[in-house]
Amino acid sequence: MKYSQIVGKTKKNVPSEAVSVNHKLLLQAGFIDQLSAGIFSFLPLGLKVLRNIEQIIREELNLIGANEVLMPALIQKSNWDKTDRWNTVDILVKTKSQTDKEYGLGFSHEEVVTPLAGQFIHSYKDLPMAIYQIQTKFRDELRAKSGLLRGREFGMKDLYSFHSTQEDFQNYYSLVKNTYLKIFARMGLKDVKITEASGGSFTKKFSHEFDVLTPAGEIDLIYCDQCEFAQNTEIAQVKSGSLCPKCKKGKITTGKAIEVGNIFDLGQRFARDFQLEFIDKDGKKQLPFMGCYGIGTTRLVGAIVEKCNDVKGIIWPASVAPFKYHLISLPGGETNAHKIYEEMMDKGIEILWDDRDISAGAKFADADLIGIPVRLVVSQKTGDKVEMKLRKNTTNKLVSLSDLQNSTV
Ligand code: ATP
Ligand code: MG
Repeated sequence: MKYSQIVGKTKKNVPSEAVSVNHKLLLQAGFIDQLSAGIFSFLPLGLKVLRNIEQIIREELNLIGANEVLMPALIQKSNWDKTDRWNTVDILVKTKSQTDKEYGLGFSHEEVVTPLAGQFIHSYKDLPMAIYQIQTKFRDELRAKSGLLRGREFGMKDLYSFHSTQEDFQNYYSLVKNTYLKIFARMGLKDVKITEASGGSFTKKFSHEFDVLTPAGEIDLIYCDQCEFAQNTEIAQVKSGSLCPKCKKGKITTGKAIEVGNIFDLGQRFARDFQLEFIDKDGKKQLPFMGCYGIGTTRLVGAIVEKCNDVKGIIWPASVAPFKYHLISLPGGETNAHKIYEEMMDKGIEILWDDRDISAGAKFADADLIGIPVRLVVSQKTGDKVEMKLRKNTTNKLVSLSDLQNSTV
């Protein structure tokens, strides 16, 4: 893509309410636009990052036998009444049609997925079943600040699983837990902590949060500096400075974190509410055991920026970066730039070409702000070679065009 044609250019100034790092950098680098508090547009660069995040999640969930669907966000009141969440969930956004029909906008989708799954679950042979979607959620959050970390309209991947026994549910729950760590590691988040938590509005049963350590987080964690062990400080049974009770090697320390995922044991509650039953091996009617598993896709865009930045801007991990290469053409380098751009485009390699007629300094500053992993510069000085620099490093090297084609990011 040519930068001259892109919608969403870098900005010098951002509104003063953008105080968190992700909010500031994503606005300034032209990844997002804010409509109102907690409500954003994703511009081409931001949308590419979001799509990369979604694709990693999709690939890993498909590997564990989950089915992707897309459910509606507009859900009639009668379904919320069945689960008693119409009047009890404060963040539910409610709306009324011109004929006085009432709807809630999905903040989570048990009210849709349970009756949906019920149409396909009749016998124990139909179980287990796992259904997920990647969709927009709505929550009437009191304080929507911190950029993409807390939106009123935001992206989520929500997975729901149905099982004939509690044991089968628990095995799948463990599988999802491990899959989540793989998903986050693929996005460059390698030290995600797993925190045992209570189930919030969903259930009194167990749940686990996946937390990314960063000062921008809202959660106070007490965690091991070597393994994934963590507890919420409010409920913690371990003390800062002590030996980790899990790995027996690391030291317990404290810090702030962002919750990027959450998995819950739902028990049989929603199956009961929707009279979802199956016939077991002995011919008896039973309620399936359910789990639900969320990942905040748009929150992840923000969380990655909070983790991966320096004073100059964002430093995207290659796996989620909007482009792999950021090509800068300076006077005398136009012919080579054309060649590199065409060849990369032919091969389907993601390249952003800053083809604007502006100063070298302005192009370099924008490249640092945008944060694409590899910067390529062609100019009169570089001759028939290309100056290559990784965003995360300060040094650069001259490479030939053929070396560039063989390099992997
Ligand atoms: P939180 O504790 O941060 O309010 P939650 O526990 O209510 O989140 P879940 O209902 O488990 O969140 O939703 C699954 C995931 O969706 C969360 O782990 C988080 O990553 C994301 N998420 C939840 N609320 C928001 C929001 N307002 N904006 C962006 N992402 C969110
Ligand atoms: Mg939570």
